[in-house]
Amino acid sequence: MEENLRRKTILILGGAVQLPDGYTPPGRVSRSTAGPGAGSGSAVFRFGKYRVKKPVTYDEAEFQLVIGKRGRLSLTRHGKPFIKNIDFEPVVRHCPQQAFFDIDPRCMFRCAFCASPLLDPSEDKHLDSDTIMSMLEESMKSHEVRAVSFTSGVVGSVEETVGRFIDIVGRVREKYPDMPIGVEPYVSSADQIRMLRDAGATEIKINVQCARPDVYSRVCPDLNYDDAWDRLKEAVEVFGRGNVSSNLIYGMGETDVDIDIALERLCRIGAVPVLRAVRISPINMERMGEAGVAGAAITPERAMKLAEMQKSIMKRHGLTTEDARTMCLECGCCDLVPFRDF
Ligand code: SF4
Ligand code: SF4
Repeated sequence: MEENLRRKTILILGGAVQLPDGYTPPGRVSRSTAGPGAGSGSAVFRFGKYRVKKPVTYDEAEFQLVIGKRGRLSLTRHGKPFIKNIDFEPVVRHCPQQAFFDIDPRCMFRCAFCASPLLDPSEDKHLDSDTIMSMLEESMKSHEVRAVSFTSGVVGSVEETVGRFIDIVGRVREKYPDMPIGVEPYVSSADQIRMLRDAGATEIKINVQCARPDVYSRVCPDLNYDDAWDRLKEAVEVFGRGNVSSNLIYGMGETDVDIDIALERLCRIGAVPVLRAVRISPINMERMGEAGVAGAAITPERAMKLAEMQKSIMKRHGLTTEDARTMCLECGCCDLVPFRDF
């Protein structure tokens, strides 16, 4: 693997980026409510063909942004040279080139790694379809928007939440007939998956999250592992092979063999794995500990080995990430993405 890929791995697994005092990054700083950077101000950095989304801070941190001659940017790690040439990549909404909306950041379920259940349920931050449409139009004026993606916590009931997806997907599809639209809902039936497709979604992400059922039952205590796999299978029947993806989080006490088996199972179904290193942050640390996830550091060697494993299993099943147009596979900011990064 080339050296820059190793640097991407270290960046993904590492801490925040410290900005020089008084320095304001160009463009928008993303304040995500979902994904690994939830809850902090983040920026997307590009170097070579890679991009990574990192929390940014003015406090001391693992990485430091350095402004050199003629404004050239570089990164140091613990004060030592790390990436010679780096730049900020514009964020549309949440990530580059996509308008990615979190319809409702709250959630009635309690997955230990997720920031959503910790949000104050009385503080309604949900985005209604009119608001999303006007935010989208504003993004279209200021940026090149290649895809629109939606995620959401579950609020009220699964049916109501899926209904909110369907409404907004239909509106985007009507206004932008050729726009790739990705959805990452929690679904409880094949009918809901079909309705999302019929509304105009082109790609769907249904997360099995864990490689082992015992880990899942501790980490996602309100959800059922077998159901997640069943919905995933149905999603492939509805959306087609390669148009369905699934988060598989590692670093929660499973072995590499567990990951191998789960990757094989995902690819056999025709779903593209999004293999993601667990993030333990001050936000989820206590709940992850209660769920039995100690959060032992993941080494870059393990991350790269598992990504290689993912690539070879995908190859064997004739799957690629290259055709994905939405959500994390297209964004690539938080993971090593086979066929794109290496
Ligand atoms: S279902 Fe779980 S992972 Fe999804 S938003 Fe709710 S708590 Fe988070
Ligand atoms: S890879 Fe996924 S979670 Fe990470 S910034 Fe991109 S869209 Fe968000």
